[in-house]
Amino acid sequence: MLASSSQTSQRCSGALCDSHGRRVQYFRLSITDRCNLRCLYCRSQIQHKFIPHPQVLRYEEILRLTHIMVAAGTRKLRLTGGEPFARKGCDRLLLMLRERFPTLDLRLTTNGTLVEPYIPLLKRVGVGAVNLSLDSFNRETFAHVTGRDFLPAVLSTLDSLLSAGISVKLNAVAMRGINDRQLDDFVHAARTLPVDVRFIEFMPMGNGTLWGPETFWPADEIYRDASRLAELRPETERREHAGPARMFKVAGGKGRLGFISAVSSHFCSTCNRLRLTCDGHLRTCLFDDREYPLLELLRRQDCTDAELDQVVRQACLHKPIGAEILKQRVQGKAVAEKQMVGIGG
Ligand code: SAM
Repeated sequence: MLASSSQTSQRCSGALCDSHGRRVQYFRLSITDRCNLRCLYCRSQIQHKFIPHPQVLRYEEILRLTHIMVAAGTRKLRLTGGEPFARKGCDRLLLMLRERFPTLDLRLTTNGTLVEPYIPLLKRVGVGAVNLSLDSFNRETFAHVTGRDFLPAVLSTLDSLLSAGISVKLNAVAMRGINDRQLDDFVHAARTLPVDVRFIEFMPMGNGTLWGPETFWPADEIYRDASRLAELRPETERREHAGPARMFKVAGGKGRLGFISAVSSHFCSTCNRLRLTCDGHLRTCLFDDREYPLLELLRRQDCTDAELDQVVRQACLHKPIGAEILKQRVQGKAVAEKQMVGIGG
């Protein structure tokens, strides 16, 4: 249930809040739009033009913005991309973030192909959990989805993360005709490994997206079919840990299965996120192409932190309800022009 504006102003004085009463505490930061994979769902058929280096946020700019966000109530920061470790110095950035923000809940989303040498560092800086993209346990399908034959590398990273005692969420984008015949493998993983295996509904992002009725595999259907393979017990999470996934313990198993129904059943009322693209565009909703350019401001000599804070607050006030944008989507078209590789997921 969304709040009225008078309820909002009472509840949100000081903290970063939007006009629907949602408190924004989760900052997703894309540090690069470069990636060594070519995932079908992330980059559409239309060639993504990489952002030139001078337009990419420098690490000191990222630290300054993080400082502003933390002062405004950010509790959780996720580094994403592109592939975060495709950017030189990502390890250094993690160290600096930890040094400056000792209590920040630091997270990472990665394709797992470049991160393995840095696992001791992730442990050292206390990365709370790693979201590892893994859309198939079948080598051929993996290569088809990602454009690269890197499944063994990702499985090795998964193994090393678990051995290091780092909590792992496996993210699989559910695609009909691609990985829908492999539900057993995912259920098997959730049964035998201490991980969260989460299906994310394929979202129609970016012009030229492959999204359509023939590729969309809805969460309810996956849940129904998975329930035939294992007994799934619903889990209720403490509010502060609850993400958008509906989570189920696999009876008699080590892990959990989850379903993120970003398209079929929205969770906008609890959305607490802001996103920043690697070229400094603040995005208040995944589905909304309206962005607030911060890079120019950041690089203006006379721009103070207070001014930047005001811009973020104003942007936040206009954070929309993504489901309404999704509803207005013109049949056959993407919901947003930007591809996920340029946003960060
Ligand atoms: N390279 C990293 C990775 O592979 O996890 C981080 C970037 S990737 C854009 C972040 C997340 O976005 C991944 O978990 C991916 O599964 C998700 N994603 C990308 N495109 C998507 C789409 N069209 N629908 C649903 N999820 C998508």
